Amino acid sequence: MKKKIISGILALLTGVMLIGCGANTKTTTENTKGTKDDKLKITVSIYPLKEFTEEIAGDKADVTCLVPNNVEPHEYDPKAQDLEGLTKSDAFIYNGLGMESWIDKVNDVIKDKNIPVVDSSTGVESRKEEDAIDPHSWLSLKNAEIQSENIKNTLVKLDEKNKDYYEGNYSKFKGELESLYGEYKPKFEALNKKNFITGHAAFGYLCRDFGLTQKSVENLFAEGEPTPKQLEDLVSFCKESNIKTVFSESLASPKISETLAKEVGAKVVPILTLESKEDDKSYLESMRYNLDEIYGCLKDE
Ligand SMILES: [Zn+2]
Repeated sequence: MKKKIISGILALLTGVMLIGCGANTKTTTENTKGTKDDKLKITVSIYPLKEFTEEIAGDKADVTCLVPNNVEPHEYDPKAQDLEGLTKSDAFIYNGLGMESWIDKVNDVIKDKNIPVVDSSTGVESRKEEDAIDPHSWLSLKNAEIQSENIKNTLVKLDEKNKDYYEGNYSKFKGELESLYGEYKPKFEALNKKNFITGHAAFGYLCRDFGLTQKSVENLFAEGEPTPKQLEDLVSFCKESNIKTVFSESLASPKISETLAKEVGAKVVPILTLESKEDDKSYLESMRYNLDEIYGCLKDE
């Protein structure tokens, strides 16, 4: 009789343990390897984070960007249906520094799902402009290193067995970022002119890296067009600084940049904020293009 009770208890315990293990395995499978092809599913908020994540994840993740191409991310506000896909992601990575004013909506949608929500700019030293925190961290090669490292750490946590792969890709990418920085740092230091004009105040961190100053047609958040008085100030600034190039962004009032350029006899040159995918250039190619164009315009003037 005693034996029967003991084996009964044992059977019961084993059953409980089996159920327990089963449940655990299922949770792990769903959270880190939900897709059929065994790839991680990562959702990012804005385009540059897609590039950073793809550099490090290589072929081990499918990366989706929440803000669609050719949508000005400062004006983006997700609808409920835009966030539905998030519940199937293994992680949500956002820029932080106030770039995603709608982040609470994301937290609401996935709060019970055990999906990590990662602020990629953790550790970036923020800067302010007119009392507002500048969100454009990714336009600094130095910040890109920090953001990519945070992304790498997230991928390692989600997929420990591929740690070496992610670490290797991160090291390679970090080396490329540092090499580009090292190439332009002495070039900009050797210049007398440090001021340039752009579409909206997106290049503050880039300026901080290289000791430059930006003036812009629109503000930090690409809001509104300049008043006649502001435009007049920009014209005087351009004339005083003998500015011969006005940088223009496809998503921030390119017409006003053209008007300004005409007014001061400058040429218009496109510049890439990477806030949306604009051409086939990678992050590094876009940054090299920007640095080369800014350097070219300051050198000639
Ligand atoms: Zn911006």
